[in-house]
Amino acid sequence: LSERLGGVFDRLTKAGALSEADVDTALREVRVALLEADVSLPVARDFIKAVKSKATGQAVTKSVTPGQQVVKIVHDELVRVLAGDGEPEALKIDNPPATILMVGLQGSGKTTTTAKLAKRLKEKNGKKVLLASLDTQRPAAMEQLAILGAQIGVDSLPIVKGETAVQIAKRAKTQANLGGYDVVFLDTAGRLHIDEVLMDEVQAVRDLAQPRETLLVVDGLTGQDAVNVATEFNAKVGISGVVLTRMDGDGRGGAALSMRAITGKPIRFVGLGEKMDAIDAFEPERVAGRILGMGDIVALVEKARETFEAEQAERMARRFAKGLFNMNDLKSQLEQMMKMGGMQGLMGMLPGMGKMAKAAEEAGFDDRMLRRQIALINSMTKKERANPDLLQASRKKRIAAGAGLEVAELNRLLKQHKQMADMMKKMGKGGMMKQAVKAMM
Ligand code: GDP
Ligand code: MG
Repeated sequence: LSERLGGVFDRLTKAGALSEADVDTALREVRVALLEADVSLPVARDFIKAVKSKATGQAVTKSVTPGQQVVKIVHDELVRVLAGDGEPEALKIDNPPATILMVGLQGSGKTTTTAKLAKRLKEKNGKKVLLASLDTQRPAAMEQLAILGAQIGVDSLPIVKGETAVQIAKRAKTQANLGGYDVVFLDTAGRLHIDEVLMDEVQAVRDLAQPRETLLVVDGLTGQDAVNVATEFNAKVGISGVVLTRMDGDGRGGAALSMRAITGKPIRFVGLGEKMDAIDAFEPERVAGRILGMGDIVALVEKARETFEAEQAERMARRFAKGLFNMNDLKSQLEQMMKMGGMQGLMGMLPGMGKMAKAAEEAGFDDRMLRRQIALINSMTKKERANPDLLQASRKKRIAAGAGLEVAELNRLLKQHKQMADMMKKMGKGGMMKQAVKAMM
């Protein structure tokens, strides 16, 4: 696919900003990639539409084609959508015993995932976990969970023949309270497709158990169908998150995007095999890369951006070395400082600077000052910025008034600029400048 894309992109014009035609051409290929990854059609369509309006008009990084730039934008947007609001992946298990209800289609991996999560909670969080199978549909299902439980050293609720799912859930609750368990997993019966009777059963279990988490387990290899499953379960039972299984297979995991977009619920974990350790917290970056399948292009654009920044740093270093340090340079320095977390953030990063940061703050040398200084520079004309020597009394008055500040403050800024310019010149002679600027960027 990347080769195909490469061909398309070569034909695109090299322009400063992404035109609508550039974006459209690239997004046609992205659409194919999404559908190949089994993202559901309506989700792919909406996603492309959102990216289109975001991408059109954006600047193109030097040395990449507009098409490549679009792929990078798509990738970043994909990560953003998959990550959601950055919900914590940790399961809510305070107020023991906390119930975790596992739901999903038959064969999606509910029972396996239940055991995997139980093992994780036991080993990583030191929790006392109880497993309960509510699967009265398949004769071997209860034994399956009990066997997995024994294998990972986690208790399972004794099997009593002839109980309904609700009765088992009730018994699990009692047992969890009596036995001092932190967490109790309710592993529900699978269904081949959405089925009213079984859905009613899950609702009844939910009402009784009041789960802290209801996790929908979905086979990552199912594409289009994942949306229906997620929609139904979310509407009828209400889910708190999704576990995507079989992500160790060939599937590209487009279901992740579909479900995230349709339900708005976070993907919490991914299953990566049949073994009990084969589960990971969901990582948006990884899954986005896989869905798009254009990792090489994303990496290329990132590299190009780094190169571009390095070139900028070098250009600045050359200017400074020649003693060229005007107000525009000072402004980009100040802005860089703001970006790096301001004075406090910057000093906090250096060892032993904590005290100094505090002293600086007391002396009024803080982020507000950075902002005031930037405002002063903004209030200068282009000419004045390029040549601060022009600044005589009347100009100073105008600039200070424009920024809503005192002339004294402008004078301090000018003095600071002069000191910095002198220092730059000295450093430039010693050839230290390049390193210094690079370290700053
Ligand atoms: P349930 O019917 O939803 O309870 O599904 P099961 O937990 O019984 O799993 C069905 C099959 O899928 C079993 O053979 C599991 O070993 C397998 N399975 C579950 N999760 C994964 C996974 O993440 N990767 C792979 N390769 N197989 C899995
Ligand atoms: Mg099962």
